[in-house]
Amino acid sequence: MPDRLGPPREAPLFERLALIGCGLIGSSIARAVRHLALARTTVVVDRDEAVVARARELALADVVTTDVVGAVLGADLVILCVPVGACGTVAEAMSGALAPGCIVSDVGSVKTSVIAQVAPHLPAGVHFVPAHPVAGTEHSGPDAGFASLFVNRWCILTPPEGTDPAAVERMQAFWSALGSDVEIMSAQHHDLVLAITSHVPHLIAYNIVGTAADLETVTQSEVIKFSAGGFRDFTRIAASDPTMWRDVFLHNREAVLEMLARFSEDIAYLARAIRWGEGDKLFDLFTRTRAIRRSIISSGQETPEPDFGRRRPEPDPADAPRGSSDIPPR
Ligand code: NAP
Repeated sequence: MPDRLGPPREAPLFERLALIGCGLIGSSIARAVRHLALARTTVVVDRDEAVVARARELALADVVTTDVVGAVLGADLVILCVPVGACGTVAEAMSGALAPGCIVSDVGSVKTSVIAQVAPHLPAGVHFVPAHPVAGTEHSGPDAGFASLFVNRWCILTPPEGTDPAAVERMQAFWSALGSDVEIMSAQHHDLVLAITSHVPHLIAYNIVGTAADLETVTQSEVIKFSAGGFRDFTRIAASDPTMWRDVFLHNREAVLEMLARFSEDIAYLARAIRWGEGDKLFDLFTRTRAIRRSIISSGQETPEPDFGRRRPEPDPADAPRGSSDIPPR
C-alpha cells in the first residue's frame, strides 16, 4: 500500500474548487489538491483574517479570502470544512451563488444532521454528496494539515436517495485521488457506526482525563508523572478540538446515547466480574480485544510498532542478545 500521494494529474478533475474552512481538514485537502493538480483553481475561505493571512503565507490555494459568496461563484465543487454545527449557516450564506451542476460536499463527522441542515438551502440543479474522511489528528488550524492525511484511510460518502450517480462518481474519483478507499452507506448507518468507533471513544477519553484531573487523592503531578501507564494515550484523544467535538455530540445525540447505554451495560458486567473475582470473564474479553487490535494493524489502519511507534531511547546494551554484547563480563 503506498503511504504517499501519487504524481500530479495531467488534467484537473474540477475547474474551480472552493474549500470553506481552513482548519486541519480544509488545509489538508488544499495541500493534497495543490500537489495533485486536482483543480484548475482552488479557493480557500476562512472567516478569520489571521487564518487567511497564514493560508496565503503557506500558499495553500490560488485565492484565499473571507468572502464565501465570491469564492463559490463559478465553482463546480464546494466542500464545507467547518464544524458540523456551522454547516447550515454556511450553506444558507452561499446558496444564492451556487451554479447549476455544482457539487456541494462536506467533511463533517456526523452525516444525518449535516444533510438536514444543508439540503434545504441548495438550489435545484446543485448536487449534494456528503462525505466523511475517517482521518484526522488532535491538532487544528491551517498549520496542522498535511497532504498525505487521507492516504490509506477510508472516506465514507452518504449521498441522499436520488442523488445524481455521476456526481457521486466524481466525488469517489476525488477521494480516491487523495489516496482514500471510498465506501458508500446511508447517513443513518454512518452515524451509528461512527458513534461506536469514534464518538464514544472520544467521550470516554474526555471523561477519563476529566476524572483524573478532579481526583483529590491523587495529585496533578502524579497524574502526569505516571501517565505512561495508559493515561497519556487517552490524553491525545482528549486534546481534540473542543468546538468540533461539542458539535459532534450535539448532532449525533441518538446514536451516541444508544452506544453509551451499551457501553454502560458492558462496563457494569466488568465491574461485577472484578468484584466476584471472575478472572475467566476478564481474560476472555481481553483475548477478544487483543485480536481486534491485531486486525486493525493487519488492515493497515495502525502501526505495529510497540507504544504507537513513539521514539524510544537509544538501545540499551543490556538488551543486546547474549554473546553479542560488547560490555566486558564482570
Ligand atoms: P479545525 O481545524 O478547527 O477547522 C475548522 C474551520 O472551520 C476553521 O477554519 C474555523 O474558522 C471554521 N469555523 C469554525 N466555526 C465556524 C463557523 N461558525 N462559521 C464558519 N466557519 C467556522 O477543524 P477540523 O478538524 O478541520 O474539522 C472540520 C470538519 O472536519 C468538522 O466538521 C469535523 O467534524 C470534520 N472532521 C474532523 C476530523 C479531525 O480529526 N479533526 C476528521 C474528520 C472529519 P476559525 O479559524 O475562524 O475558527
